[in-house]
Amino acid sequence: MKYFDAHCHIQMHQYDDDRSAVIASMKEAEVGGIIVGVDRESSEKAIALANGVTLFASVGLHPNDTPDEVFDMDAMRALAQSPNVVAIGECGLDYYRPEEPESEKARQKDIFKKHIELAIETGKPLMIHARPSKGTMDAYDDAFDILKPYKDAHQELRGDMHFFVGDAVTAAKFVSIDFTLSYTAVLTFTHDYDETIRSLPLSNILTETDAPYAAPAGNRGKRNDPLAVRDVVKALASIRSEDEEVVRASLLQNARLMFALPNN
Ligand SMILES: [Zn+2]
Repeated sequence: MKYFDAHCHIQMHQYDDDRSAVIASMKEAEVGGIIVGVDRESSEKAIALANGVTLFASVGLHPNDTPDEVFDMDAMRALAQSPNVVAIGECGLDYYRPEEPESEKARQKDIFKKHIELAIETGKPLMIHARPSKGTMDAYDDAFDILKPYKDAHQELRGDMHFFVGDAVTAAKFVSIDFTLSYTAVLTFTHDYDETIRSLPLSNILTETDAPYAAPAGNRGKRNDPLAVRDVVKALASIRSEDEEVVRASLLQNARLMFALPNN
């Protein structure tokens, strides 16, 4: 592998017509990645696509894409044992537009804690989705406050803040508990995150695409694919004024460490 897409959804229906071509193009471009489940069915599909060499799976329940689903701890625990599952999630808190804020937040927090407990039990890192309400860091603050006591009691707990949109102060909180922050190809068309990215140790950054979402400049609004992770590496190197090859190699190494990937 040369690149690692820490968060994509190529099990979703958007790839039904050309999934094997997308996977072949990843292999060709030496792009590996984690196929992330958002509910039980998509987690099972992610496991079915994982090969344990370049493609891996993450299993969990997204905080609000699947509001009616019950978190079946026993089912998730069984899925989490699968050898190609390298992370637990996506899970977390999404406060962007909660309809019944108080009961919805309580529901999300409860399910998030179950994922954290599963991560501790399995020794696998968390894949966290946290989306604050507009103009605030609320979901990050709450996620950190929930994570911190678990981290204090279980030093081995780790995880990635997927599609990170927080500020530098918020980023530093997650760095302080050994978490990584992952960035997508939105870096190709906005400078909103440059200051935060420059403030971070390179060792706490990961690359991802969130494909089929978040296509890079030139492709906006179209379906994205994991090859765009190359654009993310290029953008991160440029924002940080660092050598692209050094950045690429470091980011790949960060992913290997976070997800305990085999060395290939
Ligand atoms: Zn996602």
